[in-house]
Amino acid sequence: MSIVYLNGEFIPAEQARISPMDRGFLFGDGIYEVIPSYNGRFVGFAEHIARMQQGLAELSIDPQLNLADWQTLATRLLQDNNNTIGSNQAVYIQVSRGADTKRNHAFPLHIKPTVFAYSFAIAAEPVADKAKASCYSVITGQDLRWQRCHIKSTSLLGNVLHYQQGYAAGAQEILLFDAQGNLTEGAAVNVFVVKNGVIATPPLSHKLLPGITRLLLLNILRKHSTMQVEERDISEQEVLNADEIWITSSSKEIAPVLQVNGQPVGDGTVGDVWLAAQQLFSAHKYD
Ligand code: PLP
Repeated sequence: MSIVYLNGEFIPAEQARISPMDRGFLFGDGIYEVIPSYNGRFVGFAEHIARMQQGLAELSIDPQLNLADWQTLATRLLQDNNNTIGSNQAVYIQVSRGADTKRNHAFPLHIKPTVFAYSFAIAAEPVADKAKASCYSVITGQDLRWQRCHIKSTSLLGNVLHYQQGYAAGAQEILLFDAQGNLTEGAAVNVFVVKNGVIATPPLSHKLLPGITRLLLLNILRKHSTMQVEERDISEQEVLNADEIWITSSSKEIAPVLQVNGQPVGDGTVGDVWLAAQQLFSAHKYD
């Protein structure tokens, strides 16, 4: 039986109860995080919590927990669930504005945030091996989400509909483009392209989530390699003509995309630049 955290208590999942008046349920009024860990070691823990605190501040939600509190909470979840879930676990954290007695769009003043966290099993660490890489096929589409995609909000319907659009077309992700035709991100991933050895990814803005894998990867590439890395606008044509495309997320790390709209990316095989990037990421992600 797995153990979850709810509002200060560690309890069996079956006993966790949240009010239907919770604004997370009624409005999607909350923030969430997903933090991977392997053999008890978190990847980018402080960065994940910093992003969450930023999102909470944007929504004026204050659960009154600091980095050390979150670390204690998340570590306890890993330990409590190690026997049932195993040693590779991601911790999901969700903080909503809380439950009021009536439904009203305006922020209620005197309610306490609802804090929920649980852990779930994830696959073993991705490895820098072309033969073992999890490869993706994607489609492209116009980004129809809202104008605050930098907030990791639990209001994920826009992302869910785009993800389903890819899934219904037989793909595993969708690469999204804004009204100007520039790449934003995927439904649940950031995107990198490689052309002639140069690595590029869209710059941070309200149009995409500041992914922690994206952040760690950019830092690692700049610190530990001489590869050229750019954060800049990327057109749909550039994506379609790329030598390599990668999608990044906490669970995937760096995953090669081998097909876009049914057409091969580059020569249709896992690229050498991906191999070098995933090698560096694997070597330095806990630094
Ligand atoms: N973009 C979106 C929309 C996401 O939902 C996610 C992850 O869930 C990402 C990017 C990747 O973010 P991270 O690397 O922090 O997992």
